[in-house]
Amino acid sequence: AKDVGRNTYRFFADQMNFDNSEYLRLRTGLQRALERDEFLLHYQPQIDLQSGEIVGLEALVRWQPPALEIVPPGRFIPMAEESGMIVSIGAWVLQEACRQAAVWHRAGQTKLVMAVNLSAVQFKRGDLLQTVTEALTASGLPPSCLELELTESILISDTAKVLSMVDQLKELGVKLSIDDFGTGYSCLAYLKRFRVDRLKIDQSFVRHITTDPNDEAIVRAIVQLANSLGLKTVAEGVESEAALQSLISLGCDDAQGYYFARPMTAADAAAFLSNDKAS
Ligand code: C2E
Ligand code: CA
Ligand code: CA
Ligand code: CA
Repeated sequence: AKDVGRNTYRFFADQMNFDNSEYLRLRTGLQRALERDEFLLHYQPQIDLQSGEIVGLEALVRWQPPALEIVPPGRFIPMAEESGMIVSIGAWVLQEACRQAAVWHRAGQTKLVMAVNLSAVQFKRGDLLQTVTEALTASGLPPSCLELELTESILISDTAKVLSMVDQLKELGVKLSIDDFGTGYSCLAYLKRFRVDRLKIDQSFVRHITTDPNDEAIVRAIVQLANSLGLKTVAEGVESEAALQSLISLGCDDAQGYYFARPMTAADAAAFLSNDKAS
């Protein structure tokens, strides 16, 4: 077991281009970050392309070490997953995202859906069902206003545990979406088995949608697939008016991206939400 641990660790260190001391420093830093409450969430709006209304927000975690620059998730989530720390960080994210969504609900944003990213590790370790239940209970957020973003890698792992976990989550009444759809696997069989609500079209297909006919064809196919399965679609990484227009003409339901808003603090998101209401 010691050898396996060491190999995993080496593999990780190689992958991340960390030397050993950097790895250890990051690991200690993350542990302390949890104890000292140094994580925060930014929120990025999702827009209904027909009505123009904000229908949801995606919660995106950041790390703010004291007196240092904000650390983006790409720089610490892989290590948090590898070390198992993502289980506690993910529980904090769920609690905070539900708490904030419930505040906005009580302020009148009753249709707002809060989307939260889940890691495969949260399905394998820890008690995800209990974590989600507690976040909902503590906040009072209706389950239907929480959307859990799963990755294809979670759904193709196809173990009995994942299957029953997804069923139980669905039973709670939360929504499920598949993040980065189209980037993971060509096998779509899992769409039959799991009752998901939305496909999130990966930004790699959206970025050049107006100039690359292949990307446009892929997005069109995903929207048609979703339509015939009764699923909604949300396009990620919308950065231009032209991309927005393509997505509208392809019949995509919702969109998210810098064109509308970057991920922002809760205070900025609140202001964004109230502007939307007034307009
Ligand atoms: P993701 O779930 O695919 O999130 C979308 C990423 O694209 C975010 O990066 C967002 O800021 C960025 N983005 C949004 N709109 C645009 C756009 O128009 N153009 C471009 N170029 N980028 C855009 P961010 O916040 O750095 O997050 C990166 C990844 O970290 C996420 O990718 C997700 O996989 C992971 N992540 C973030 N928060 C959490 C979390 O709470 N838990 C877990 N497990 N993973 C998280
Ligand atoms: Ca996501
Ligand atoms: Ca994504
Ligand atoms: Ca991603």
